[in-house]
Amino acid sequence: MRTQVVIIGAGPAGLLLGQLLHKHGVANVILERQTADHVLGRVRAGVIERVTMDLLDEAGVGARMHADGLVHEGVQICVDGKRHRLSFKDLTGKTVTVYGQTEITKDLMDGRAAVGAATVYSAADVILQDFSGDNPRVSYRAGGKTHEIGCDFIAGCDGFHGISRKSIPASAISTFERVYPIGWLGVLSDTPPVSEELIYVRHPRGFALCSMRTPTRSRYYLQCSLAEEIESWPDERFWEELKPRLDDEARDRLVTGPSIEKSIAPLRSFVAEPMRFGRLFLAGDASHIVPPTGAKGLNLAASDVRYLSRALIEHYQERSDAGIDHYSARALARVWKAERFSWWMTMTLHRISDNPFDHRLQLAELDYLFGSKAAATAFAENYVGLPY
Ligand SMILES: Cc1cc2nc3c(=O)[nH]c(=O)nc-3n(C[C@H](O)[C@H](O)[C@H](O)COP(=O)(O)OP(=O)(O)OC[C@H]3O[C@@H](n4cnc5c(N)ncnc54)[C@H](O)[C@@H]3O)c2cc1C
Repeated sequence: MRTQVVIIGAGPAGLLLGQLLHKHGVANVILERQTADHVLGRVRAGVIERVTMDLLDEAGVGARMHADGLVHEGVQICVDGKRHRLSFKDLTGKTVTVYGQTEITKDLMDGRAAVGAATVYSAADVILQDFSGDNPRVSYRAGGKTHEIGCDFIAGCDGFHGISRKSIPASAISTFERVYPIGWLGVLSDTPPVSEELIYVRHPRGFALCSMRTPTRSRYYLQCSLAEEIESWPDERFWEELKPRLDDEARDRLVTGPSIEKSIAPLRSFVAEPMRFGRLFLAGDASHIVPPTGAKGLNLAASDVRYLSRALIEHYQERSDAGIDHYSARALARVWKAERFSWWMTMTLHRISDNPFDHRLQLAELDYLFGSKAAATAFAENYVGLPY
């Protein structure tokens, strides 16, 4: 079998890339290790930048997002029981949209099925071969047989634990990492959110986030230790720990109920450079991870895909490799700014250190943010997404 681009991974990066390439006549096959149901069952991101929405529109899968997504003009930050609001709309003229990653994945899967493009789910033992030469190949096992696909390019969109980055010789890749000593314990519940906007909470007991997916479905997170086990957190304990971290109004409005999903996610910052090795490109979490505090992971995956899809389309339609040659540098310039913002939000809002000096610095950062239009504008510009 032969195609132009083999895409490894059917997460948001792989599916979006496949859809954009297909729209421009570039043939592609997606290989995904899991089943489609498994991919759809993962509850993750929820805050979408305008530029990500534009890309989903370009891919022709934005209709449901526009109908069901919740437009947010600002965000609230609660510091030791007192809430402050930052208006993106006033500061930048822009907004973000709350629309779950699960829904985006579904829209992209439906879009792909509608155009009849090939996706192989449950593809085991994916192996990337000869991507430093002119004739890359990808082999995999499915239905008890080994298959091989010859291609022009391979797009490694297989997330942080995928095979693509690991296939690159260690001498050709540099990695930069910060592992935070904390995690996020997340609960999804069919209860109305405490607020129409996200509330980020800085509290002596630890960080919390009140988020949502729809007007009747809430998503809450609590900072937790990495040693925590999910079994030790029955729903009642989760709600009892959330309440004291909230301000009085949010506590009064909190509606508790059974969780429909509960998970613990470690917090990590990670970048692998460069993002291109011969005919293999990395995109999304395969190349970089941010702690979820800044809501940037999915949005960065989308911005990589924007640069990469344009580079590949230019290669086929204009016979120019300029986009391919600049892909890594262009993508990394945006990645590192999002890494900085996500690190800053994480360090400013979580209880990470027991040193009172660090606590005072956090309070000074936040006081400056709430008191300075310049600081608030810089925050808002980063939150709504920097321009491409
Ligand atoms: C709790 C949490 C909250 C988050 N909140 C936000 C948010 O609000 N906003 C935001 O922008 N981001 C957020 N993120 C981050 C966001 O979910 C990720 O950045 C996003 O999923 C990255 O997409 P991706 O396609 O690059 O990788 P993934 O979604 O990880 O997809 C990779 C795919 O590759 C497949 N794969 C892996 N290995 C192989 C293999 N060997 N062969 C074939 N297939 C393979 C995987 O099964 C997977 O389907 C959050 C993440 C978490 C955990």
